[in-house]
Amino acid sequence: MRTKPIKNNIMLVTAVIFVLLILFFNINLYQVKSNEIKRSALHNQENLHNVVKMIEHNTATIISSRLETITKLDFFDKIREDLTNTTKIHKQSNFEKLNVHFKHIKEQTKHFSTLHIVDKDGYTYLRIHDHSLHDNTISSQRSSLVTSLREPKPRSFYEEGLYGICFRVSIPLYKGDTLVGILEAGIRPEILLTEIDSLVRNKSYLFKKEKASTGFYTDAVLDVGLRTLLLDPKAKKINFAERTYIKHELPLYDHSNKLILKVISLEDITATEESFETFMLTSVLASIVMMLLLLILLEKIFAKILIRIDELLYILNKTDDYILAIDASTKKIKFANAALYNALGSSKKKLKNKNIEEFLRARNDYDSGCSKLFKDKNEKTLSKKACLILGEDQNIPLEVRINYINKDGGYYIAICRDISEYLQQELERKVNEKMINKYIPLSQTDLGGSITYVNEAFCKLTGYSKEELIGENHRMLRSPKTPQKFYRELWGNITKNKSFSGELRIRTKEKEEIWVRVVIEPRYDINGKKIGYVSTREDVTDKQELRFISERDQLTKIYNRRSFESKLSQAFERTKKEHYHFGVIMFDIDYFKKVNDTYGHQVGDEILKSITKHIKEVIRDDDFFARWGGEEFMLIVKTSKLDELKLIVSKIQERIKNTDFSPVPSVTLSFGLGIAKEEDTKESLLKRIDNALYEAKENGRNRYEIAL
Ligand code: GH3
Ligand code: MG
Ligand code: MG
Repeated sequence: MRTKPIKNNIMLVTAVIFVLLILFFNINLYQVKSNEIKRSALHNQENLHNVVKMIEHNTATIISSRLETITKLDFFDKIREDLTNTTKIHKQSNFEKLNVHFKHIKEQTKHFSTLHIVDKDGYTYLRIHDHSLHDNTISSQRSSLVTSLREPKPRSFYEEGLYGICFRVSIPLYKGDTLVGILEAGIRPEILLTEIDSLVRNKSYLFKKEKASTGFYTDAVLDVGLRTLLLDPKAKKINFAERTYIKHELPLYDHSNKLILKVISLEDITATEESFETFMLTSVLASIVMMLLLLILLEKIFAKILIRIDELLYILNKTDDYILAIDASTKKIKFANAALYNALGSSKKKLKNKNIEEFLRARNDYDSGCSKLFKDKNEKTLSKKACLILGEDQNIPLEVRINYINKDGGYYIAICRDISEYLQQELERKVNEKMINKYIPLSQTDLGGSITYVNEAFCKLTGYSKEELIGENHRMLRSPKTPQKFYRELWGNITKNKSFSGELRIRTKEKEEIWVRVVIEPRYDINGKKIGYVSTREDVTDKQELRFISERDQLTKIYNRRSFESKLSQAFERTKKEHYHFGVIMFDIDYFKKVNDTYGHQVGDEILKSITKHIKEVIRDDDFFARWGGEEFMLIVKTSKLDELKLIVSKIQERIKNTDFSPVPSVTLSFGLGIAKEEDTKESLLKRIDNALYEAKENGRNRYEIAL
């Protein structure tokens, strides 16, 4: 069986498809998952930005409100006064009072580092965080002060100052409507780290830009490798100390938009990564298990399907019919069964894709090839005649049943049956039918004897036309001379589904009586149901006449001696086979010589004829009556009783006695009679009867004697 290799191939292909599907599925899954991680990273980047902005805003708000509060204190009027005067008389006492507040804020705000008052010309009035440095022209070193003095308003920004980079919050100071200076506070940017790490739970680093240098530095104690990774703009994902991080970077700018700080925040994704790996691993494993289960299931299904296909192919290849499928547009063979490629002496492979025109032609229409066969594109089965071409002068006549299938671009399925035998039989049947039609009278009737079919020879025999016969009962052909007994026997046979044969007389249209030999058989429909009778007839008139001559006596027309002898032999045979008993009566006209002598031979002949006529009327139909010779006669009677024979004799005597044989005044007969005994032979019986007749003569004539 070919099931195994086909199955293996299909299973292999299926397995490959499954593996590819799983691969595709898992790659997709991987992409979806890693996109999710990327999206969350982006989200965190945004978060960082917002958090920083929030910290900046909060710090600015809190600190500026503290500054505003301080400026509203009484001692601050003295500061305003000092700021407008050239002599700074309250400087020391103001420092002490402000220092109290400075220390107070510092206690409350981590990383708070500077508190600084600048006069309207950009000179330092008080530097609370560093009392030693007063009165320097700080505005020449810090351009932000120039801007703040030119456009006075509350501000916050990053800037590098004498004590490093600070987040500054400043408010302008007025005396009346006149700008007298600026109060500014500085907070170290490390405030960002503390806040970020508590808000987003990241590990963050702050990198500062040095004034002279182009690079960044950080105050944090860092591993060299980590530092490199943190500063590497390409390293988005960092693996460090057995953990995995996503790096978020936020640049911060000073008031003149110069990059000054960089917050680098590390989001620990170790757990996410691990769960992602576990997820992927589980997914791959689950896919493999499912694939295996599906493969097992498919193996079973395929096995069933393939066995079915195999069975169908086996059946297709076992049939004698040629079965093929051809492409509707190209007429190329798509499938051929074994019967076809064997008939063409080709292999299955060679036959495939060959054009059907090479092998098939419409029957009796060679020029049109097979285009006539395959032109109808309806899906009903069409039956057509065709020829399978085997060689130059060799072809097989076919009956082709064609179906168009409107699928896969359209194709035909043809089932071709070799009809050569059928055609030959048809040919012979037609010849036979022609002969029968012409020479053998044949008729069919229904069960009641009504004629349903007659052939030409039947019409010729009876003289009637088909129209005159069909629908009529067969009785119309009966002759009154045929005894009813004959018909009873006939119907008795055929109603029991036996065939019947016999000779009878029929009457033609011209009222001519003819002898026919009839053979009747019952006839059936295709389901085996009896529907009537079929009969043949043969004109046996001539034969019947010949037989009559040979069997009969020329003068009296009753049976002759030869017939009697053969009848007697038959009677003896019947006694052996069945319980048949018979008797024989022999009789002789008394003094017949005298009749001849007196009235002439012709009168004698008439007497002979007259006697036979009368005796025939007296005896029964089945008594056999024959002329033995001259004026001697024989009767064979079916009986075992002498009395019956005696009765017949007396009946005959009675009739003869009462018959007028003029001119002969009276005629008498003498009889010898006897029943055939078991030990009798033809000869012994005849001898006994003859003796009895002799006795009757001897004993006075016109009497009978019994054979002993
Ligand atoms: P018996 O009573 O003893 O029988 O006397 P018989 O005269 O009848 O006997 P016999 O045998 O002497 O004569 C038979 C006669 O029958 C002789 C013959 O002329 C006559 N006969 C036989 N055959 C025919 C026939 O075919 N036609 C005629 N007309 N006569 C026949
Ligand atoms: Mg005689
Ligand atoms: Mg006689």
